[in-house]
Amino acid sequence: MPELPEVETTIRGLRAPLEGRVLTRVEPRRADLRRAIPPDLRQRLTGARITGLGRRAKYGLIHSDRGDTLVFHLGMSGRWRIDPESLGPHDHLILETDAGQRLALNDPRRFGSLDLAPTAELDAFVPFRMLGPEPLGGAIDAAYLAKAFAGRSAPAKALLLDQRIIAGLGNIYVCEALHMAGIRPDEPAMRIGRSSLQRLADAIPAILEAAIEAGGSTLRDYARPDGELGYFAKQWRVYGREGEACGCGATIQRFTQSGRSTFWCSRCQK
Ligand SMILES: [Zn+2]
Repeated sequence: MPELPEVETTIRGLRAPLEGRVLTRVEPRRADLRRAIPPDLRQRLTGARITGLGRRAKYGLIHSDRGDTLVFHLGMSGRWRIDPESLGPHDHLILETDAGQRLALNDPRRFGSLDLAPTAELDAFVPFRMLGPEPLGGAIDAAYLAKAFAGRSAPAKALLLDQRIIAGLGNIYVCEALHMAGIRPDEPAMRIGRSSLQRLADAIPAILEAAIEAGGSTLRDYARPDGELGYFAKQWRVYGREGEACGCGATIQRFTQSGRSTFWCSRCQK
């Protein structure tokens, strides 16, 4: 499932074929994904120039010179294909540019979404209204975490997954960041000390940037033969490694928190 680093990597991969280009063809090939695709999407984007690309949480943003932003979510299985040799039944949106390139949004399970929102009012777009600050870009520092965690007895992990506190952070990255920071996943948030919060504030972007970098190299490999923007398998510190040895030699453990798996090391995280 695409997480924030995959979305960021996808956006970086889409800049070269899209930024500054005019869309000569915009063809949604079905009426809906997880929800309806705007019926006027073709009309509003055909002939528009792409002025920039960005990301908010796990949504990709493609800005046009008509004041519209195409907002996409990759859901469980979405990916963009650049210059695919042929189109398949899961290519749900086709874009062609004045440079002669063709891009296809491919999503076999169709949990993704496509929306158009006014670029000037993106903060009011319903999925964005309640989102907290981005985990990359410096807004999440120890002072921010101290304020967000003050008086909160919920486990640190639950608050880090709360999109109102940090936007776009998923289970893998929360497990990894807590391990890097040496914080127990079930520690009541309000009891975490200032030095641990500092380590956590440093760990969150470090873990994400390492994943983006790993994806970047995967992307270059992928982009050569058929142009797919791939996801990347990374060697995690604890995630998905129950029963294996942590870097410290102790055995990685797993338990279930709010219905989701938590992986951690009882020696490293105290
Ligand atoms: Zn350990």
